[in-house]
Amino acid sequence: MAAPGHEAPSRATIFLRGITGRCAVCGKTRLTPKWVSVKFRCDRCDFSIERHEGHFVGAVGMNTIVTFGSILITVIIGAALTAPEIPAVELSIITVAVGLLVSVVFFPISKTLWSAIDLMMVDLEPGEVDPRYDPNVTLDN
Ligand SMILES: [Zn+2]
Repeated sequence: MAAPGHEAPSRATIFLRGITGRCAVCGKTRLTPKWVSVKFRCDRCDFSIERHEGHFVGAVGMNTIVTFGSILITVIIGAALTAPEIPAVELSIITVAVGLLVSVVFFPISKTLWSAIDLMMVDLEPGEVDPRYDPNVTLDN
């Protein structure tokens, strides 16, 4: 996935860039500048996190898995802490709140993380990054 003439970053590096909301290609630009917002194109290398039509489906799927995982964990912990008299209404309210919160908070990361995972599976094609982008040039941003 490296630009011509440059060494590709490791899969771990690409994954860390994605899960921290940074550009998967250059790692310098924060693509999640605010809580629930996403920049769809990197300022530095011009990489688009929406690499192809329908790309968002993977991010939505990942967000769904994480959200339902958090709901399951909430139910299990809530039931374990309150057994044998589980307060169903209170636990339901807490579970719904956790599900809503996690789905919103994880949304931007799901986009950048899916973009990173996609980049690990499918190499960069010519034209996906700015041809003037040089990974060896460090910019302050
Ligand atoms: Zn970039």
